[in-house]
Amino acid sequence: MGLLKSRNPKKAAITDPYIPSITDDYLKSLEGKKPSPQLQELCVQKKEVFLTQKTLAQEFNIYTLMYPIFNLNSIKQAEVESLLSLKFNVLAFDRSVVLKSTYEREHHMTLLLMHMFHYLDLIREFHIPEENLFRLIGTLARKYRNVPFHCFYHAFNVTQTMFYFITTCNIKKIFGDSKIEVLAMLVACLIHDTDHPGLNNMFQKKANTKLAQIHATSILENHHLNQGLCILSQPDCDILVNMGEAEQVIFYGYLQKMVMATDLAFHKHILEELEPHKQQIKKEFLKDKPQIDPTQILCVLAICMKCADLSNEIRPGDIAFLWAARVNDEFFQQTDKERALGLPVTPFMDPEKITVAQEQQGFIKGLCKPLYGALAECFPSIDACLQQMNTNLVEWEKRLELTKKPGVKPSSEIKSGFIEEQQTPIESGWNEDQLRPLKQFFAIPLGMVGSKDKKRTKRTNRDSLKEPHGPRLSDTQGSDKSNSKDKTS
Ligand SMILES: [Zn+2]
Repeated sequence: MGLLKSRNPKKAAITDPYIPSITDDYLKSLEGKKPSPQLQELCVQKKEVFLTQKTLAQEFNIYTLMYPIFNLNSIKQAEVESLLSLKFNVLAFDRSVVLKSTYEREHHMTLLLMHMFHYLDLIREFHIPEENLFRLIGTLARKYRNVPFHCFYHAFNVTQTMFYFITTCNIKKIFGDSKIEVLAMLVACLIHDTDHPGLNNMFQKKANTKLAQIHATSILENHHLNQGLCILSQPDCDILVNMGEAEQVIFYGYLQKMVMATDLAFHKHILEELEPHKQQIKKEFLKDKPQIDPTQILCVLAICMKCADLSNEIRPGDIAFLWAARVNDEFFQQTDKERALGLPVTPFMDPEKITVAQEQQGFIKGLCKPLYGALAECFPSIDACLQQMNTNLVEWEKRLELTKKPGVKPSSEIKSGFIEEQQTPIESGWNEDQLRPLKQFFAIPLGMVGSKDKKRTKRTNRDSLKEPHGPRLSDTQGSDKSNSKDKTS
């Protein structure tokens, strides 16, 4: 607090909100000169982290007061097993008469998500304190906003799709004995839209929002990543507490790659990046012991993340319809806001120019099919997803015929609006320097990866918080169901 008294009062307007997290060096550099734009940007970022931490502290209290204990055994075995299918409909919780409050629903979803970590043997493999995982997911649930589409149901839905890819489609086989990719896949899904305001990047730019002032590109994705990492780094939510430093570097790299890949501006780039590796990945996937290089691992993670994010279209028709209604609800709320603010209205979201069926048709044809097509070229077990998507497309086209209005703009013209102006791939791609630690990591003989962290100590803080429990599914290893594709998808 001494700094507060000694600082130049003229700088108060700039420094006051940032004092709690700013370092002495930054403050010193402000003396006698105007802060550079970079420094100002840094200050804004520091402020964002500080405010997030403050909010989190309050949310921890609320959450742990509501649910001081958790019991994984309260979830029925049949419900846990239903997570292996795309028939699972998380939106059913929204109308549940059993789970009456938002807290009860979030708590139930948290337990289901924890079961996914157990099923994949991640808690044992990485010595994750269960209490930390419980608080991480519970806190993330609180950080998702009450918007029609980008709410916690979406985060759950994306994570469950990824779980389906990993287990039922057996994509985890491509990573061999390594499980860090699988852990990163689930966590990336959980954090990938944290604190989404329900207004897309285009709106942020047009309205020159605070977020747009902080992040020049991938405005929302950078924000989601920052928010997610901020929660993940809270001691009470730290699931990496027993992970070695080298693995943590890799893990964070994977998270960054996957969350940034969800920016639709990188859609083409992600596909182009994967293109030269598809045949090799498929060849390896069909082998008993696949081996792919670090670049290929990143390509697989990025395409899986994108597909999971856009997975409403591979769900059975009735579920896909519910999600389409929600996404359009959010779109229409954005266009209402654009009109109210006098901003140009986004054409592919405008209910005056496009119907839900048109929007869905354009979305499936323009974005989803090429993505899932590329994923299926690497992993033939994804074919079932493509079939369901085609079935849904036919249904939307039937509706389109029924709802066609004279003078409505063809969706093929509007669909390009989904892909925002192309950005340089530098932010989402990894350069050689970034790949080096990854390559070094994989240069370690596989046998050593599991044993190198002998120093890992099993820390399970606040053991007293939980009731005794264990994984509901005993089949945590060798439980691949590569040939038992979900018949519905
Ligand atoms: Zn998303």
